[in-house]
Amino acid sequence: MATEPALPRSIRRGPRITLTCHCGERRYLKYGESWTCEKCGRRWNTRRIPMEQYAAIRREQLRYRRIPLAVSALSLICVVVFIILGQPFAGLVLVAFAATTWSMFVRPIHSRRYRRRIANLPTWKIDPE
Ligand SMILES: [Zn+2]
Repeated sequence: MATEPALPRSIRRGPRITLTCHCGERRYLKYGESWTCEKCGRRWNTRRIPMEQYAAIRREQLRYRRIPLAVSALSLICVVVFIILGQPFAGLVLVAFAATTWSMFVRPIHSRRYRRRIANLPTWKIDPE
């Protein structure tokens, strides 16, 4: 079955690719998957997309995921520090405050920026096999 070389993990877990057949049929595929159109029988292979370009998108996606992750890690550290200092309540207040600020002000800006980047993703024209 698997005659094609294995793909790096980061590539396999990347965003789906929208593939539109010449006849108008549309599928959402992972990088490395191939698809035979049910309507016209054309065979498509997403590996025809340059892997380096696809990897760049994946990196972009991870970059935008890193900020919320960093924020949650930071809040956790805050709570732990305040517990160590014997002020667990102060720690909770601070984190609650930070969480409110995050969801009211930072997150909307962050996700708007992310959506804009996603909207500018490149498209490729590949040939059927
Ligand atoms: Zn088709």
